[in-house]
Amino acid sequence: MSNSEKYVIALDQGTTSSRAVLVNRAGQMIDVVQRPFQQIFPQPGWVEHNPQEILFSQLGCLTELCSKHGLTSDDIEAIGIDNQRETTIVWDPTTGQPVYNAIVWQCRRTAAMVDELCGDEQVRAMIKAKTGLLPDAYYSASKVRWILENVPGARERAEAGELMFGTVDTWLVWVLTGGLVHTTDPTNASRTMLFDIHRGCWDEELLELFGIPASMMPEVRPSSGSFGETSYPGVPAGVPITGVAGDQQAALFGQCCFEAGQAKNTYGTGCFMLLHTGPEARTSAHNLITTVAASAPGADGLEYALEGSVFVAGALIQWLRDELGIIGSAAETEALATSIEDTGGVYIVPAFTGLGAPWWEPNARGAIYGLTRGAGRAQIARAALEALAYQVSDLADAMADDAGGALGVLNVDGGASANNFLMQFQADLLGCELRRPANTETTSLGAAYLAGLATGFWSGTDELRELRSTDDVFARQKDAEWAESHLAGWHDAVRRTIS
Ligand code: ADP
Repeated sequence: MSNSEKYVIALDQGTTSSRAVLVNRAGQMIDVVQRPFQQIFPQPGWVEHNPQEILFSQLGCLTELCSKHGLTSDDIEAIGIDNQRETTIVWDPTTGQPVYNAIVWQCRRTAAMVDELCGDEQVRAMIKAKTGLLPDAYYSASKVRWILENVPGARERAEAGELMFGTVDTWLVWVLTGGLVHTTDPTNASRTMLFDIHRGCWDEELLELFGIPASMMPEVRPSSGSFGETSYPGVPAGVPITGVAGDQQAALFGQCCFEAGQAKNTYGTGCFMLLHTGPEARTSAHNLITTVAASAPGADGLEYALEGSVFVAGALIQWLRDELGIIGSAAETEALATSIEDTGGVYIVPAFTGLGAPWWEPNARGAIYGLTRGAGRAQIARAALEALAYQVSDLADAMADDAGGALGVLNVDGGASANNFLMQFQADLLGCELRRPANTETTSLGAAYLAGLATGFWSGTDELRELRSTDDVFARQKDAEWAESHLAGWHDAVRRTIS
């Protein structure tokens, strides 16, 4: 490739696949190479990945991308990493061998352990105050403890300073730098349940509670800054790794949400909404999580976000396709929904796995209400799309309440954000503007942005905002009364589901 143009490469290490993404100075994604890897389910509720497979799928994507485009070290300005969060790896730095498979964020094996260790109200309150999290097996802390308790000799070796812990970013950086750099960033650290998000450091009391030696912990460095240089056979050598963030925080950054009040929602299998709250860590009155946001270089201290999720979003559309068989593809729902004026009073409450924020009813189960003889595929498909928007609206209300102000703009991405009916209905419900970037691969873009800002490839966040110019905008078309009456119908359906 020519010497004049340089690129940033984002390594997007997800739950089911690894990707390497080539980004140019104009912020365009030039190419993507993707490799899936194996999901391991040793027992019901257990989920593991082989750390070497994560590594080789990720490095395979990187080297394939480089050889496809003839890229050498000179062509690559920097590498940024975004990754599946919470997933836990423990390894021996002398051999480079993990002592156990990666325990994936979805894995529930430590649920009873978390109940036992964190059941006490005071302990829960202490954890929430320090980490911004509600104690759960989801986060890394109990997964590390499980490995130390269940892998023969692991505890002794850890206490002798012979083992390292890391989230997936840590593992990738450690291997890519030839074992020189043992680090993570504050966004990944904030998902371990071992990190004090206010002081910005590992917390001694939490390490003790989970029985984790401090010597195992990686150094926490700013998300945009130096994480060493590549030094691994087959990978272009000496390329600086200068961006690291957990996937959702990377997406927030990739959506150019750099300041308080800016929010993004990802419409995937579930939804993930993050609202930047600036230098202030807001505590939720609605059981939302307080997390660390990725900062551009030069930030004065940590920045924060509120985070909430909708458990069933695109999964409801998959259900219409795979279980009910009333659509052939997810995209078909758009034409079906717009073929009718309204659902005729049909509401779907997709509480397949209980209801999350702001309801918090884990035992609720799904229901369809308001069926008449006139209800058919179109009404059901439209009600399903509307259900996604209603759930996001409830989440946004809870967040706005916690943050002390309604959302001005919601930046959207994820597979289901392609649905124009859903986006317009959402804008009408929320009463705010929705912005869908031309490039909805915001997670990889966020990692690339963080890496490129650190080296001066991009001059600052203003330049990144300018690069992002081709959004689709969905402005509100209905009035507040319309939104209230629709939400009233939805809330009525939710209440009937709960009672
Ligand atoms: P994830 O990353 O969570 O796997 P994606 O962001 O790839 O999910 O989004 C896929 C989800 O979006 C699927 O659940 C699918 O049903 C839904 N989806 C994709 N396209 C559309 C569409 N045009 N309308 C509605 N839902 C869609």
